[in-house]
Amino acid sequence: MEIRSVGIVGAGQMGNGIAHVCALAGYDVLMTDISQDALTAARALVERNLDRQVSRQAVTEEQKAEALRRIGATLTLSDLGRCDLIIEAATERETVKTAIFEDLVPHLKPDSILTSNTSSISITRLASRTDRPEKFMGFHFMNPVPVMQLVELIRGIATDEETFAACHAVVERLGKTAASSEDFPAFIVNRILMPMINEAIYTLYEGVGSVRSIDTSLKLGANHPMGPLELADFIGLDTCLAIMNVLHDGLADTKYRPCPLLTKYVEAGWLGRKTKRGFYDYRGDEPVPTR
Ligand code: NAD
Repeated sequence: MEIRSVGIVGAGQMGNGIAHVCALAGYDVLMTDISQDALTAARALVERNLDRQVSRQAVTEEQKAEALRRIGATLTLSDLGRCDLIIEAATERETVKTAIFEDLVPHLKPDSILTSNTSSISITRLASRTDRPEKFMGFHFMNPVPVMQLVELIRGIATDEETFAACHAVVERLGKTAASSEDFPAFIVNRILMPMINEAIYTLYEGVGSVRSIDTSLKLGANHPMGPLELADFIGLDTCLAIMNVLHDGLADTKYRPCPLLTKYVEAGWLGRKTKRGFYDYRGDEPVPTR
C-alpha cells in the first residue's frame, strides 16, 4: 500500500518534529491535539526549525514553503480518518493512548496503518485495543526528530510483514535509518538509556555529585554529547518517569526502580525544558542547576 498522507496525534515536542520531517519528505500531514495552543505552537516551531535549515542551506525557501503548505491542523480527531498512516505521539500514558485509538478506529479506512511513537508501552497491548492488530506497530522517533537519524520499528505479536515493509519504506523516504526491535518494555534505546539516566539521578540523590559534576563527568569522561541530567530535562522528566515505571512493572526487577528524586521533580511539575524547570532552571539566559 502506498502511503501519501500521515495523521499525527499529539502536537508536542515529538509531534511537531514528526510533522516537520514528513512534510519535507512530501507527505500530506494532518496534526491533531486536544489543545489549540499546542497546535499553534507546533506550527510556529516547525516554521522556526525550517528557517534554521534554510539558513544552513540544508533546505531551500521553496522546500520550506511547500512543507508548510502540506501541514494541516485540526482539533477533531476523526478528521485523521482519511490518512493512510497514523502516528500517535500523545502523552506517554497508556490510558491516553488507548482512548485515542478507541475514538479514532471507527473513522479509519480499512487499510490504514496505525502506529504509536510510544517510548516504552507494549505495542502488542496497544494493538489489541484496536480493530487491526496486524496493521499496528511501534514507530519510535528520537528527539529532536529533524536531527536524529534513528527510527526504531517495533512489531507487535500480530504485526504483518506488509505493515512492517510499508513503515520501513516511510523511514527510508524520510532519509532516516530504521532499527528493528522486539516488543519488550522500552524496546532497545530506552531499555539502555533510561536506566543510565535514572542512575545519574540516584547519583545526585545520594549526594555523590552535583548536577554540574554529574553532567560534566559523562560529557568529558564518556564522550557523551549531553550530560544525563541535561538529557533528562530535554526528554521531559514525566516521560522519563513513565518509561522507568514501564520497565519496573514490565520486567518486575528492582534494578529499574525509579529514583524518588525523579518522582519528586515530576510531582513539582518541574518537567525539564518544556516547563522551563527541571534539573536546570531555564528561565534566565543560561541554564542554572536547581541542585
Ligand atoms: P509532550 O508532552 O511534548 O506532548 C504531548 C502532546 O500530546 C501534548 O501537546 C498534549 O496536549 C497532547 N495530548 C494529550 N492527550 C491527547 C489526546 N487525547 N489527543 C491528542 N493529543 C493529546 O510529549 P512528547 O515528548 O512529544 O511525547 C509524546 C510521545 O512521544 C510519548 O509517547 C513519548 O514517550 C514519545 N517520545 C518522546 C521522546 C522525547 O524525547 N520526549 C522521544 C521519543 C518518543
